[in-house]
Amino acid sequence: MKIVRVNMDTLQASFEEAPKEYELIGNRGLIAKILLKEVPPACHPLSARNKLIFATGPLAGTGVPTAGRLSAGGKSPLTGGIKESNSGGVVADALVEHEIKAIIIENKPKGAGLYALVIAPGKAELVPCDDLKGLGNYDTHRKLLERYGSKATVASIGPAGEMRALAAGIFTSDMEGLPGAVCARGGLGALMGAKGLKALVVLDGGEYTIPVKQPDRLKEALKKYHEVIRSTPQTAQVYPKYGTSPTIMTFNALGGLPTYNFRRGDFEFAEKIGAEALYTTITERGGEGNPTHRCMNGCPIRCYNKYPDSEGKLMVSPIQFETLAMLGSNLGIGDLDAICRLNCLCNDQGVDTVEIGVALGMAMEAGLLQFGDGAAAAGVVEGIGKGEALSRVLASGAVVTGKVFGIERVPAVRGQALPAHEPRAVKGIGVTFSTSAMGADHTTGVTFREKVDHQKPEGQVEASVRAQIKHAAFDTLGLCFFVGTAVQDPMLTVDLVNAVYGTDFGEEFWVQIAKDTLRAERAFNEAAGFTRVHDRLPEFFREEKLPPRNLVFDVPQEEIDRVWSELLK
Ligand code: SF4
Repeated sequence: MKIVRVNMDTLQASFEEAPKEYELIGNRGLIAKILLKEVPPACHPLSARNKLIFATGPLAGTGVPTAGRLSAGGKSPLTGGIKESNSGGVVADALVEHEIKAIIIENKPKGAGLYALVIAPGKAELVPCDDLKGLGNYDTHRKLLERYGSKATVASIGPAGEMRALAAGIFTSDMEGLPGAVCARGGLGALMGAKGLKALVVLDGGEYTIPVKQPDRLKEALKKYHEVIRSTPQTAQVYPKYGTSPTIMTFNALGGLPTYNFRRGDFEFAEKIGAEALYTTITERGGEGNPTHRCMNGCPIRCYNKYPDSEGKLMVSPIQFETLAMLGSNLGIGDLDAICRLNCLCNDQGVDTVEIGVALGMAMEAGLLQFGDGAAAAGVVEGIGKGEALSRVLASGAVVTGKVFGIERVPAVRGQALPAHEPRAVKGIGVTFSTSAMGADHTTGVTFREKVDHQKPEGQVEASVRAQIKHAAFDTLGLCFFVGTAVQDPMLTVDLVNAVYGTDFGEEFWVQIAKDTLRAERAFNEAAGFTRVHDRLPEFFREEKLPPRNLVFDVPQEEIDRVWSELLK
């Protein structure tokens, strides 16, 4: 397969063979290796020396369900450390059809112009697109599909990315051609903006498929894989009916749902924004709404949904747990329409709903807005594209918001805001947030499905280590982590690799690719100046009791410091 190298200074793109050592890895693991090799860790994230990488996985386009995740990565403008963020959608499969394993965007353009990188069969070309300047992601995708055909796929930034706002994400095409699949976290949209790249457009017409070395073995491995998905209630019934929204009530019951700027772990209006309310609203309104659909071809789980307004017109797709919590309970907003409107505005402006949700919660507590005021929050998000001062501060994320308004209590680790997993109530995730190279990021190791008492400090280090290895392995194979709920036996995934590539690995392969990824990320961050001092949650999580269970985060720091010796073993 090929790597496309794009020089934004000369405006030239070239193809090169992907090194053999990259064959069996992709996405997060590939990004970590390339960054460690090619990017000076101490560089400024918005400088010409940083690189933006798009990467696909080794199983994409082979018929393995959910293997078409697209990863974006680089040195994070938000955290100053390594960052990989992945999305579902259809862009990765389209890249593989053009035999592309990764795209590396280098340098910066000389002027202020904006470009679209257009991938066609055997060709990659930078095309000026100043007419898209300032456009939201919805109009950007619509115009590009009009220009390049409805079967093209797109990854774009909105006004927030163009302004290099630190909460900016990259918004990629879903099955409907909408920008609903998001590489949200870590400010990678700001990195794309710094490169002068408004969009990546992948044209229809690629004919490549990864050759499967042992088709019968793959058929057998896929049969087992599907059986496990079909026989696990979460992947067979819960996700397909409700998406990820049931986690609202699960966390509410645990006292771990971020509420009123992390002041409480339960929300009096949780039921109004929970799974049943969401499902009922979508099905009763009908029209363009749909409680379940897939973000990419062949996914049997179908956790995406389409939320319609009261007239049945599509408001946003999908609405997921993290967003329901961070734009809902964390802001005291118990109204699905208000949350979905906010979600839609965030997608259009191009910001991560978690980072902006935390920043909005802090602004509400500081008295700049009122808790529960969805219209005022929407006004702030809309103001990003207009360059309004408060909007730009909040779009710079939780840490900047804290500095500008003199706020001590900032729910962030390594510069990145906490997602909707309260570490005082689910303590293992606090260990993950403390130690992950990505900062506070649930996609690096959720523990709430681990067999451990979440509210006691014991066993949390082990739970986090297990979860971090599992997430890193899934992310390095480009698989959607929601499959991980069903797939407990690593050999189910290793067998897929063995069948496609004709290898004979055992479970050690899975652990190896995960640990290699984690080590490379840690090495990058150490060289960028991070030390063990950064492996800490903000002090208030240890000091402030979280109602209603009055929990604090009390996993001893010496225990947390053990994580890296476990992961480096
Ligand atoms: S489980 Fe959901 S996010 Fe994952 S591939 Fe399927 S539809 Fe996409």
